[in-house]
Amino acid sequence: MLTISQLRKSFGTTEVLRGIDLHVAKGQTTIVIGPSGSGKSTLLNCVNLLEIPDAGRLELDGLEMGFGDGGKKRIRELTRFRQKTGMVFQSHQLFPHRTALENVMEGLIVVKRWNRSDAAQRGKALLAKVGLGEFADRYPAQLSGGQQQRVGIARALAMEPAILLFDEPTSALDPELVGEVLLVMKELTREGMTLIVATHEMNFAREVGDRVIFMENGMISDEGTPEYIFEGSRNERVRQFLSRFD
Ligand code: ADP
Ligand code: MG
Repeated sequence: MLTISQLRKSFGTTEVLRGIDLHVAKGQTTIVIGPSGSGKSTLLNCVNLLEIPDAGRLELDGLEMGFGDGGKKRIRELTRFRQKTGMVFQSHQLFPHRTALENVMEGLIVVKRWNRSDAAQRGKALLAKVGLGEFADRYPAQLSGGQQQRVGIARALAMEPAILLFDEPTSALDPELVGEVLLVMKELTREGMTLIVATHEMNFAREVGDRVIFMENGMISDEGTPEYIFEGSRNERVRQFLSRFD
């Protein structure tokens, strides 16, 4: 589904991604852990081309892109690739003056050129899927943080991405709201959606992850099954990092 090869990204003179190789199979959930500043967000942002990598290759659902070869990327090419990804950020980036339903419909109408009634129908179904069928007409400010995140997930799903990327989707939430968001994500993995999730929710990682990668200084310094990472890894930095979550 997704192959990342020798991906590099610098900001100024700071090398933030230093040659990332990663393969994600269809239907797999890959969990990205690692200290703050290790490059997790930059990696996700490069996969959905919010940041343009300096070098390396991306292959996603049959589309391939190379970077750093000097050739300029055409906007259309970038857009086509980007549309295969869906992203959910730490805090929802919903339009405040649109209802939950309108937020979910937006991409269908603007990007996919659906008519309003089809978009509304699909939007309602997606809100029901994330447990918000009753909340379609609420504005973001009238929803809890967890509900807003779930609208964000519904909105990302509306575009039918090949892969869904989550960047610490629960870290801005009050503890009692974390569970409802993780539950929706768990349901998506059960349905066979392909996910990459940067998170500090170690129980979730253990339970739902097919694979866990540990990032450090812009590199993947350890990876494996949750059992391996959480119990078997001999990597001292991994042990040290995980001990903070005990
Ligand atoms: P993480 O998500 O693991 O905390 P990030 O990918 O956000 O790590 O950041 C990795 C490093 O890149 C940090 O040192 C951060 O300061 C730097 N960085 C991230 N985005 C930018 C940017 N747009 N401009 C400059 N530096 C950045
Ligand atoms: Mg981050």
